[in-house]
Formats: sequence, structure tokens, C-alpha cells
Amino acid sequence: MAKEWKKQIRQVEPYTPGEQPKEKDVIKLNTNENPYPPSPMVRKLLLHPDDLRLYPDPTAGALIESLADYHKVKKEQVFVGVGSDDVLAMAFMTFFNSTKPVLFPDITYSFYDVWAELFRIPYEQPPLDSAFRIRKEDYYRENGGVVFPNPNAPTGVFERLEVIEDILKHNQDVIVIIDEAYIDFGGVSALSLLDRYENLLVVRTFSKSRSMAGLRIGYAIGHPELIQALHDVKYSFNSYTMNRPALEWGVESVKDETYFRKTTERIIATRTWFGEELRKMGFSFPESKANFLFVTHERFAAKDIFEAAKKEKIYVRYFDKPRIDNYLRITIGTDEQMKLFLEFLKGYLADKAC
Ligand code: PMP
Repeated sequence: MAKEWKKQIRQVEPYTPGEQPKEKDVIKLNTNENPYPPSPMVRKLLLHPDDLRLYPDPTAGALIESLADYHKVKKEQVFVGVGSDDVLAMAFMTFFNSTKPVLFPDITYSFYDVWAELFRIPYEQPPLDSAFRIRKEDYYRENGGVVFPNPNAPTGVFERLEVIEDILKHNQDVIVIIDEAYIDFGGVSALSLLDRYENLLVVRTFSKSRSMAGLRIGYAIGHPELIQALHDVKYSFNSYTMNRPALEWGVESVKDETYFRKTTERIIATRTWFGEELRKMGFSFPESKANFLFVTHERFAAKDIFEAAKKEKIYVRYFDKPRIDNYLRITIGTDEQMKLFLEFLKGYLADKAC
């Protein structure tokens, strides 16, 4: 007999994160992690397990203060959460409450439609053009809010601030969220637009450029009224989202600008030479301002390369989705890792060509 209670269960199709292989010695280029360790200041700070008996500061005051100082904004303009996924989920719940559809591109971070479904938010996905660029005019229509990453994921394509500002100008009655998870790898932040657009929310993460994906810290910067609204929702949900180690290590990371710059610049340099090598082998990809490249080859199927690489313990990301099912998203690792991946590719292409 059908179980009556089943009807009460919320039906959702969850987001699928990239694989976290258990085996050792893998080259892991599939989840846009940073190949370098976090700042030595983070590694040096010893934490006291005894303190774990106490709840953390529910206001996350020290971390918020350090981020406010770093970005030269007021404390009232900063919200922190458990990775930017948590911040974005809160923001969807807080700001997207219209019967009109929220807009985000057809090719973008695949968590957006999951949250929209979870929170029953109507949405539409205007298609990117054939070069994977946003057509700003698509965002002139009536809507319940706008969200997209800049640089976009999984394409790595960065839209100039003029495009962001144009979209903001046409959408002053709704909240516009710019997800800057990858901004530190060569893009220009929309934070400078905050003074002029109080409906703008910029979301950031410690997971990529700060190399702390395992700690889970994300944050948002916006007008104090938006931040207050986010806090109200957070405190209606879970007062203690941020744990003690995250709060303490997070502050240390923000202090170390020199290391932060050194490692992001190294990743950008690796991206440049690795990209040139890929082009020589017949791969093409849109210009990336992120810590990954989104590549395709005219003659070799992405899915086959993905599977063959995995057999060699090299993990990259493949999305079996319309328009992008012949692309691989390759995270930029160390020079050494990228050299090994190129060696694999050379062997693979040579083998298939004969
Ligand atoms: N936004 C984008 C565009 C991403 O690619 C990711 C990483 N999966 C996130 C947000 C979430 O990152 P995190 O929760 O680790 O901050």
C-alpha cells in the first residue's frame, strides 16, 4: 500500500558536487580547489580543543570586522556563512520572494536551479551567446531578481563592469547577486559599484583563492539593509553557522595579503602557459579569468578524455548537459600537475590519432 507520509516529503533533485576520490596519488583537477596550502599564518595558529565546549560567537564579529577592514566597508555591510553555498542559499531565501522569475544564465553554476527548486522560486535561464557571453538585453525584462557568477562557472568567462552596471541599471527594483567565487584570478570586482547600487549583493568565498575549501567560509557584501535582512533569516534558521576554527583561521588568512597575492599570481601564470600548450594540441577554450579552463577539442570527445584521464588517476570535471557536453573543466593545479596532465593528453591524442 502507498505510504501516506510519502506525500509530505519535499521532492528535490540535489546538486551533485564533484567527486572527492578516496585513493591516494591522484591529480585532482575537478573541483577548483587551490593546489597550494593556506597561508602559513593559518598553519601556525594553534587552536585549543578545550574551547570547543563553548559555542562560537554567533555574530562572527572578529571575522566580519577583518573582512570589513580588508574591503574598506562598514561592518554592517558584511555577512558570513558556511561557504558561499550557504551565503547564496540564504540570499535566495531572503531576496527572491517574487512571483516573477529570477534570471540566471542557461550555462552557470548548477546550484542556482537547485536552490530555486528547493525554495519554490520561479526562474528563467536566458541562454548565453555562442561565445558563452551574457547578452545583457536578456536581463531587461521584468523579473524577481538576478544572479550570476563573474567570472562565470563553468566557462571562466569574465564580464566587464560596464555589463554588470548596465544590468544593475535595468534592475533597480530587484536584488542583483554577483557571485565572485573566482574574482581573484584576474577579474575586476563589482564591489566598486556598491556605493551607487544599494540593490547589489556581492558574494565571495575562501574556498578558491584563499585555499580553504575544507574550512567552509563564504561572505557577502552589500547595503546594510540587505545584510540586516540576511542576518534576520540566518538567526531564524541557525544562530551558530560559523564554527570556532573557521572564525579563527579565517581571520588569519585575511591578514596575509602577501601570500594571497603570490599564490593567486602563480595560478594565473600556470593558467597562461598551460592554456598555450593546450592550444598547440588543438584544444580551444574561452579566455578564462578563473582558476580553471573550459576546454573542447574538435576531434576528440570530452567524455572519452574524461574517462581515460580518470583511469590514470587524473580527475577533471565533465558535465553531461546540453551545449557543454563536449567540454572539460580543468582546474589549474601546480606546474608539476599540469605537466603530468599534458603528458597524459599527448599520449592520449597520439594513440587515438593512429
Ligand atoms: N559559486 C560558484 C560559482 C562556485 O563554483 C562555487 C564552488 N562550487 C561556489 C559558489 C561555492 O563555493 P563554496 O561554498 O566552497 O564557497
